[in-house]
Amino acid sequence: MSAPKKLFIKTYGCQMNVYDSERMAEALGGKGYVETKTPEDADMILLNTCHIREKAAEKVYSELGRMKPLKAENPNLKIGIAGCVAQAEGEEIMRRAPMVDLVVGPQSYHRLPAMDDAVQTGAKALDTDFPDDDKFDTLKARSKAKRGPTAFLTVQEGCDKFCAFCVVPYTRGAEVSRASDRIIREAQELVASGVREITLLGQNVNAYHGHAGGLAGLIWDLDKVDGLERIRFTTSHPNDMDDALIDAHGTCEKLMPYLHLPVQSGSDRILKAMNRKHTAESYLRLIERIRAARPDLLLSGDFIVGFPGETDEDFEDTMQLVRDVHYGQAYSFKYSTRPGTPAAEKPQLPEDVMNERLQRLQGLLREQQQATQASMIGREVNVLFEKSGREAGQMIGKSEYLHAVFAEAPLDVIGTVRKVKIVDDAANSLKGELL
Ligand code: SAM
Ligand code: SF4
Repeated sequence: MSAPKKLFIKTYGCQMNVYDSERMAEALGGKGYVETKTPEDADMILLNTCHIREKAAEKVYSELGRMKPLKAENPNLKIGIAGCVAQAEGEEIMRRAPMVDLVVGPQSYHRLPAMDDAVQTGAKALDTDFPDDDKFDTLKARSKAKRGPTAFLTVQEGCDKFCAFCVVPYTRGAEVSRASDRIIREAQELVASGVREITLLGQNVNAYHGHAGGLAGLIWDLDKVDGLERIRFTTSHPNDMDDALIDAHGTCEKLMPYLHLPVQSGSDRILKAMNRKHTAESYLRLIERIRAARPDLLLSGDFIVGFPGETDEDFEDTMQLVRDVHYGQAYSFKYSTRPGTPAAEKPQLPEDVMNERLQRLQGLLREQQQATQASMIGREVNVLFEKSGREAGQMIGKSEYLHAVFAEAPLDVIGTVRKVKIVDDAANSLKGELL
């Protein structure tokens, strides 16, 4: 029997890419590949790329440059580019980087086994279609191998919202939802492999329409899956938070009290220019309704500072919105141009203005995050333990609010939800005592 071929996957960007990388590894597993953690001994290297940050493509080319010696040492090594940069750049990658053997977009990676056949004969393989055949149908069942207690599950892909700054509608295509019965089956497979918490993923997950009852309908079906203890979902658009979903936050015990609900800006003028189709006021009213349903919910968000045309006053509106909402945690970014998006055509703000605003916003968000963490001290939370910590006897998991919590505990807490009393907070985690 020949030794299994080794596959090294490097994943960039969002959780959807983490999920896709798992599925790519499973698809190539059918061709005899096993995963390796070191690129040096790989027979195939896949870079699963992200296009959301600035100079994304350039970063991929420099990573390829670093991999050149590996290809020189092992001429049989195959190198592939997957993900959103693959989708956006397509053939350009093959042209600029002849060492690349295959380029595969996020909607066509179910065809990787056939592409592997092609590259093994020395040919190049490129597939950046938005194919008619359903990727998930071809991929079929999840691997039966034992897994950790948390998993991602993509339920919706693409986006029809076309925010003026965002490449997602172009790289991931139109909004598509998976049928709910397939998702339930996949959730059952994950639970059979040891998963206790599933995070439902989508670029616009709350626009999910693969169930007559929308995302809330899917969540209630998942609520019935034996052995599944926790459900989360990300990322949502404010306009798709319907009543049923808000209600589920108050009534579905398995749905965790954490919500990532990006607003991007607190200025109505900028929100309009961003094509967000909501106002600061409608967002604040929405938050009120969600908090009425689930008062202890921890809220997270995304912000862009320095969108073209943003004045000091617009930025102050964002700061005020942050003060009004009080986020438990949040992500904030400097606006950066994405070629092909409407905002890319507009005059850009000076770098120093953006830097100063970002610093102020991040300072405020950090204060709120720290205050939220400090407010957990003395409280009892439920922690799903995931793995051992750095120190002996220490276990790490996540509370229902998605705080990382560490506590002295026996090894067998891993994979179980335990009551923990929070006794201290560190920079990005909480210290607890097992009750
Ligand atoms: N669908 C989600 C939403 O509507 O919020 C997330 C989309 S995107 C993958 C994640 C975040 O990246 C966005 O919420 C936005 O804050 C940020 N982002 C997207 N395009 C950007 C750009 N051109 N410049 C800076 N930040 C950007
Ligand atoms: Fe991008 Fe999200 Fe806007 Fe869609 S809703 S265009 S994914 S920021």
